[in-house]
Amino acid sequence: MRGAETEEVPATGLEPALYLVATPIGNASDLTLRAIETLRGADVIACEDTRLTGRLLARHGIRNRLIPYHEHNATQARPAILERLRRGEAIALVSDAGTPLISDPGYKLVEEAIAAGLKVTAVPGPSAILTALQLSGLPSDRFMFAGFLPPRSAARRKAIGELADIPATLILFESPRRLADCLADLAAVLGDRPAAVARELTKLFEEVRRGTLGSLANQYAAEDPPKGEIVIVVGRGERSDPPEGPDLDALLQTALESGSVRDAARDVAAATGLPRRAVYMRALELSRGTR
Ligand code: SAM
Repeated sequence: MRGAETEEVPATGLEPALYLVATPIGNASDLTLRAIETLRGADVIACEDTRLTGRLLARHGIRNRLIPYHEHNATQARPAILERLRRGEAIALVSDAGTPLISDPGYKLVEEAIAAGLKVTAVPGPSAILTALQLSGLPSDRFMFAGFLPPRSAARRKAIGELADIPATLILFESPRRLADCLADLAAVLGDRPAAVARELTKLFEEVRRGTLGSLANQYAAEDPPKGEIVIVVGRGERSDPPEGPDLDALLQTALESGSVRDAARDVAAATGLPRRAVYMRALELSRGTR
């Protein structure tokens, strides 16, 4: 009788599901109690790097089976994981660090598991994005995470241009060796907005530098590339909607009669105290007759 009962209860005690388990972003103690229970109880743990995750498990006295699931094998590995879920297994998915799926593998697996009617649940925890935002000192009510920008400057500036009018704090990942160039491109396209560079979060040499894009670009350009992992946080820009009203238009029309769009925008922005970018956009519209 006992044996029959045992057979009906999943061996792990975990409900069958795909468990998205967040792991530390540096400090190995940042593993939640539920993450430990889940990693211990899952039938198997899918992870990016079995050696790295193996070390985290050993540190917490967790013994379990690991299977690789990373960007190079995901397409081949996915069907087998979905099949195990269909058979009623509890599968934990972790990435090398932080929250799975966030600039890390897992999205496709989640998408297909949901499409197949399989249960997906999350064990939340560390996230470099949220930790950097918390420490940046920049507005945290509305933010946009844009991942890694393109490595080459021309493509990067184009990508930054697409973010310019988003009225939210921007959060980016960047590699240490591209940090100074990336900050310079951000300053060139977005203007000298307030910003923060968060490095080695939760680790021994955690550092957050706060300033403006221009000042931070200059600081990092004058130093050797920093070591470690980096998140850039950029404050939102000025309102980019064109300010409206006959007074502004009248002032701009007059200024445009004797000067370029650029000069007119500069002079009128100075005279009215309105944001220069927005005045420039309005001047451009007026000069093109697209009001
Ligand atoms: N999934 C992870 C998360 O939720 O935080 C992010 C993984 S992404 C592949 C790795 C990038 O996250 C790094 O290049 C760096 O930009 C950022 N990052 C991760 N850990 C960090 C840390 N301790 N301090 C600063 N940035 C970190």
